[in-house]
Amino acid sequence: PILLLPTGEQQVVVACRIRPMTEEEEMEGATNIAHKVADDNMVVLLDPEEDHDNALRANRSRERKYVFDVVSDARADQHEVYSSSSKLLLSSVLEGYNATVFAYGATGAGKTYTMLGTENNPGVMYRTLHDLFVEIKKFEGKREYQVTMSYLEIYNELIRDLLAPASSFLELREDAKGTIQVAGLSEIIAKTPEEVMDMLHKGNRARTQEPTKANKTSSRSHAVLQVNIKQRDINRSHTDQVRFAKLYMIDLAGSERAAQTQNTGKRMIEGAHINRSLLALGNCINALSEKGNTKYVNYRDSKLTRILKDSLGGNSRTLMIAHISPASIHFEESRNTLNYADRAKYI
Ligand code: ADP
Ligand code: MG
Repeated sequence: PILLLPTGEQQVVVACRIRPMTEEEEMEGATNIAHKVADDNMVVLLDPEEDHDNALRANRSRERKYVFDVVSDARADQHEVYSSSSKLLLSSVLEGYNATVFAYGATGAGKTYTMLGTENNPGVMYRTLHDLFVEIKKFEGKREYQVTMSYLEIYNELIRDLLAPASSFLELREDAKGTIQVAGLSEIIAKTPEEVMDMLHKGNRARTQEPTKANKTSSRSHAVLQVNIKQRDINRSHTDQVRFAKLYMIDLAGSERAAQTQNTGKRMIEGAHINRSLLALGNCINALSEKGNTKYVNYRDSKLTRILKDSLGGNSRTLMIAHISPASIHFEESRNTLNYADRAKYI
C-alpha cells in the first residue's frame, strides 16, 4: 500500500525505514526487536535487556512506541519507500519550492541503500530524478527547463566537491543578501537520470570512508546532492519570471556516538564534528516543527545547516527518513535514532 503524506500544511515530514536483518546480524544470534504495527505508522521497539517479568513488576514496559508520518519495514521495496516519501515533494519542487530529503541513522542502518541504492535497485536519488525528467517532458514546447546538479561532502566541517574530488576544500561565502554559496563548487547540467546515477556512484566512491570499530565501511561524511531546477514559460515574454527551486538529497554521516565506537584521537574529533552538525540540524528541524510564526532557527552552528539555510523553513519542505536495523544488538542505536526522529516531528 502506498501512503499519501499529509503534505498540505506540513513543513516537516518524518518517515522511518526498518531494514531487513542482515546475515551478519543473524549469525551473531540477534533477534528482531523493531516492528512496524500493521496498518499503522507506528514502530514498536523492544528493549532486549529488559526482562518481561521485571518490567511488569516495576510497572514499566519493555516496549517503546513511536509514531511517524510513514513507516516502512523489511517488506517495503525501494519503489515503495520512494513513492511514500520524496516522490510527494516533486510537485512542490516543480511549483518552485525548495525541498530537502535527509537520510538519518547509524552506520549500517541503510541510509545509502535508501538514497543511492544499488545498480539493480536504485534508491531515492535516481527515482526522484527519473520522475523529475518525466514531469519536465510533459511540458515540452511549453516550458523550458534547466536541471543542474552538484554533489559535495562535508567531513570534519570541511567541504569537498565529490564531482571533482581532487580539488581542494571549498569555502562558504555569504553575499550581501545573506545567501550562502559554496565557492568553486562544480555544477553540471543533468540530462538523463542514468548519467546522473553514474556520476553519483563515482562521487560516492570518492567519499571519505575510513574504518572504525563499528563498521569497516563506515561513512563519516555527509553527502549532499543538490539539484537545481530553473524553469521559464516559453510563450510568455522574456521579462516573465523565471522559477527556480532547489532540491537537496542528503545521505547523512552515521549518527552513532563517538563513545560507542570506542574511538580515540582522530576518530573522536570526527565524532564531535558529526554530532555538531547532526545536533545543529536536529535543532533547526525542531524549531521548524514548532507551530506558530515566532520560530527561531539557528543555522549558524554548522556548515551543513548554513548550506541548507534557504531550504529549511520558509516555504520549503523537509523530509527526514530515519533508518534503523531491526536487530537486538543495535538496540541503543535504534533507540537514539528513533528519539532524534521523534523530536523532529511536527507537533
Ligand atoms: P548506511 O549507509 O546507513 O551505513 P547501508 O545503506 O550501507 O547503511 O546498509 C548497510 C547494509 O545493509 C548494506 O549491505 C546494504 O546493502 C544493506 N541494506 C540496507 N538497507 C537494506 C534494505 N532495505 N534491503 C536490503 N538490504 C539493505
Ligand atoms: Mg552509508
